[in-house]
Amino acid sequence: MKNSCCDDYDPSSLSVEQALERIEQGLQAIGAKEQVTIRSALGRILAEDVLSKINVPPYENSAMDGYAVRGADLEGKVQLSMVGTSFAGQPYMGTVEAGQCARIFTGAVIPNGTDTVIMQEHVERDGDVISIGTGHKTGQNVRPLGEDMRIGETVLKAGKRLSPADIGLLASLGIPEVKIFRRLRVAFFSTGDELCAVGEVLQPGQIFDSNRYTLYGMLTRLGVELIDMGVVHDKPEDVENAFLLAAKGNDAIITSGGVSVGDADYVTDTLRRLGEVNFWKVAMKPGKPLTFGKIQDAVFFGLPGNPVSAMVTFYQFVQPALQRMMGQKHVVQTRVTVPCVSSLKKRTGRMDFQRGILERDEQGRLVVRSTGQQGSGILSSMSQANCFIILPVECGNVAAGSEVLVEPFEGLI
Ligand code: AMP
Ligand code: MG
Repeated sequence: MKNSCCDDYDPSSLSVEQALERIEQGLQAIGAKEQVTIRSALGRILAEDVLSKINVPPYENSAMDGYAVRGADLEGKVQLSMVGTSFAGQPYMGTVEAGQCARIFTGAVIPNGTDTVIMQEHVERDGDVISIGTGHKTGQNVRPLGEDMRIGETVLKAGKRLSPADIGLLASLGIPEVKIFRRLRVAFFSTGDELCAVGEVLQPGQIFDSNRYTLYGMLTRLGVELIDMGVVHDKPEDVENAFLLAAKGNDAIITSGGVSVGDADYVTDTLRRLGEVNFWKVAMKPGKPLTFGKIQDAVFFGLPGNPVSAMVTFYQFVQPALQRMMGQKHVVQTRVTVPCVSSLKKRTGRMDFQRGILERDEQGRLVVRSTGQQGSGILSSMSQANCFIILPVECGNVAAGSEVLVEPFEGLI
């Protein structure tokens, strides 16, 4: 690739894809399991396949309120005499003979002798005699036994993050507890002499530490155990002590700040001394300085200090990495292509993750627009955005109306 004034190509940077690959290769899933009640399992990663021990539904039942009949009786217009009622939870115990029917309600057991349900709106009733018109089919409105899940079927696979539907499904199988992977332990801290902790008085030259709050939020949503180690000063010995403390008993360490090549940027050097640096530069914006490595048994992510960069690199690299470590399979993010109604500034040579607002235009079409200023310190852009606009390395400025790739936050955060 040629270098020009509009090009940010840096041969020492990895591409986003290469960085993701390196991270994936540098990880190990934790594997330790625990047994919890299905409510506590919400949002956690299933550690063992779940097989159904019953059929769901366990019996043939009615999908409608109406009348249970024998399909063979339905020749032209017919009249049938009602011999009983099957309620949900209170089946009709008798047998329905030819020329007969039973009143039935949704979810009730299909009585012996019957195989078809006629909706109550489609019959005329006179006392215990009902008249049925033509056009009905044998078997209609009957939910077969095992229609949802069958005995012996694998209904949930290990590695799935359990959703509300999943824990409901486990309940429908009568399963009170499941095995899940234990929570990851993640230690994190901010670095920077300029940082003031929220709650303290801001001194001249200081800014409030916001990264520990965005990190707290993102990590909490992931369901990990958090160890917040506060703010660490830009002193090599402080950074070193914090690293050693963080590595004890934790699965991952996340820091922000101090990963550039400034005089006060000690994170990457410290990691080199105490552990291993796998890479420290990625061809992306925001987030170019990003350090990945290992210290003792903990994986290490040194995020850039700029608040937007820290969030973007977390979502693109750290989150999928932690998900894999937790044992989650199929970590795939939804991405869609939509027209962009704003023009976008972009240099070639790096991948951009610009902040966008995905919305419907007047014709109801899904379109995206820019949140405006894209500086990596502008945290309000992340707050306003509901998606990333992902622009590939080779892409330059984008004219309004062009199609762009968008990653919605819904589901991402
Ligand atoms: P650094 O990566 O340490 O060079 O920091 C880059 C920019 O991000 C600087 O303007 C820092 O002041 C700012 N910054 C670093 N850490 C934080 C933080 N925890 N919260 C808010 N801003 C930060
Ligand atoms: Mg700094």
